[in-house]
Amino acid sequence: MLPIIDTHTHLGTSKFSGVTTTESDLLESMERNGVGTSLVMPQPTLENIRDVHAKIAELTLKHPGRFYGIASLDPWIDEEPYVEELEMCVNELGFVAVKLHPMGHNISPLSDRCTKIYESARRLRIPIIVHTGLGTPFSLPSLLIEPARKFPDVTFIVAHAGFAIYTDEAVVAAKACENLILEPSWCQTYTIQKMINAIGHQRLIMGSDHVTNLPVELTKYRSIGLSESQLDDIFHHNAKRIFNIQS
Ligand SMILES: [Zn+2]
Repeated sequence: MLPIIDTHTHLGTSKFSGVTTTESDLLESMERNGVGTSLVMPQPTLENIRDVHAKIAELTLKHPGRFYGIASLDPWIDEEPYVEELEMCVNELGFVAVKLHPMGHNISPLSDRCTKIYESARRLRIPIIVHTGLGTPFSLPSLLIEPARKFPDVTFIVAHAGFAIYTDEAVVAAKACENLILEPSWCQTYTIQKMINAIGHQRLIMGSDHVTNLPVELTKYRSIGLSESQLDDIFHHNAKRIFNIQS
């Protein structure tokens, strides 16, 4: 089996769940569950986001190949400082994606304020991870159809694939737009099979979201009769391709 890539982890304290995740929490959980590489993003947070980005960058330097950063900036920030910080994260700190959190950032993906995220992602050739599920209406998966059609060369990752309750909607959106990728953390086991039937396993990636949820997510994929090569794609190859990472 190839080293597993966890595409959705956080560093810091979530303003919603109150959960704090530290460097050693991440490392221990990766060790325990056979994860080789984790992609790390800030939480929806009250902390200063530049400080969190700096801490994530420190982590990636300390453990090369084991961690890659994902930037998460408030789209309500004006275009110039937003783009400046994102470009710094990608070009200088080696971050591999940008996050849009419609609930945490309190914004619809259809807002004009989000155009700078899509344009920057296209220019920087990075995928956009968008939180979906909790926090509707802004977190409805169908709201990604329009930006995905406007930016067909940008990859949009539907984080939590609708969070169980809107999973069918996430599948409909993914069927409508080939540049949507599903990351089904927190979804029911049988819906993962449904996603694979609808769009193919090459468009699924594994994300844990919380360290204690990592073994649960891995077990979900291992419980639905997937072949070793399908598991290798979902756990390793797909993430490597989509985030353009080396390890
Ligand atoms: Zn998350």
